[in-house]
Amino acid sequence: MKRHVVNFHYTLRDSAGNVLDTSAGGEGITYLEGAGQIIDGLDTQLRGFAAGTKTRVQVAAAQAYGERDPAQVQRVPRAQLPVEGELHVGDQFQTGTDRFDPVVTVAGIEGDMVLLDANHPLAGVDLNFDVEVVSVRPATDEELRHGHAHGAGGCGHG
Ligand SMILES: [Zn+2]
Repeated sequence: MKRHVVNFHYTLRDSAGNVLDTSAGGEGITYLEGAGQIIDGLDTQLRGFAAGTKTRVQVAAAQAYGERDPAQVQRVPRAQLPVEGELHVGDQFQTGTDRFDPVVTVAGIEGDMVLLDANHPLAGVDLNFDVEVVSVRPATDEELRHGHAHGAGGCGHG
């Protein structure tokens, strides 16, 4: 099957209509179809749309960032956390110094103990994307070999 490189703008809302994220004002998202560059449910449902199409795409939590896993919430002594200053419910920080270390959210504070939620912030959230497809073009052989979309200057790793 022929694969495409697609650029689109989106506004993401939860089921209550709250805006969670938007690409408005930026360059939009560019991805290679079927390469895992965007969440599966969105990738699949945007197939076949022409440039200029505006559509709403709904992606159930299970096809987006997964369901919430209660086992991912842990009670940790405040003193063990790598965070200076005051903590607030909703604060997010990395569990270590490497940029790939997981991000956790403070779900509660109980005296000297802190409840840390390692679920993705969008886990368990049904996602509603208002999408505008900006451009669609066939993927190049190089992009197919690399498994991702390239901008005007390629990706720099040959
Ligand atoms: Zn590349």
